[in-house]
Amino acid sequence: MKIYTLQLGQMGNCTYIVQKDNQGIVIDPSWNMRKIYKILEEHLITPKAVLFTHGHYDHLTDAQDLLETYKIKGYIGKEDIGLTTLPEDFLIALEGDCCLQIAGMKIEFIHTPGHTKGSYSIKIGNVLFSGDTLFCSSIGRTDFPESNAKDMQKSLVRLSKLPKETLVYTGHAYGPSFKTTIEEELKNNSFMQMAIREPKTFGDIL
Ligand SMILES: [Zn+2]
Repeated sequence: MKIYTLQLGQMGNCTYIVQKDNQGIVIDPSWNMRKIYKILEEHLITPKAVLFTHGHYDHLTDAQDLLETYKIKGYIGKEDIGLTTLPEDFLIALEGDCCLQIAGMKIEFIHTPGHTKGSYSIKIGNVLFSGDTLFCSSIGRTDFPESNAKDMQKSLVRLSKLPKETLVYTGHAYGPSFKTTIEEELKNNSFMQMAIREPKTFGDIL
């Protein structure tokens, strides 16, 4: 498995292309499809699906072009479909946790609401794509109408229980990097620490 990272758009959104042999998936394609196509073509990757960590526009702007070009579907949390402008024909709704085989890879969709109701953290092997739920030393905003701090607390506790060596690729490089590990976050992320130690007052600090 090979991972290509692109940081696109003014908010430095991370788009990830995960390759297995000559197939692949694209996570959160947005802002610049040409750069994404270039990587797919250079490495002879046929994308089999698009996975959206959540429905905010900065994670899917222009993604329709990719879905149409390759005639593939986008997997997205059911509750977030209403946040997007993507036609429903292009989407497959995710509900709760599930595990699917796509492009020769076992893909675990972990429902981690909080930033949005339909936020997902996507685990492939020992790699977690955390979208806007978990950042390096930080977490996603919970002040949107579609956010919920109590849900975020529970989601952070869930992620904290993943194997320590899990590599985490985040939705933006809002912290020092776009890449971290669960072990590093347990040590350095005060939000994750508070979610574990002070669940009842967690929402008050956000
Ligand atoms: Zn977001």
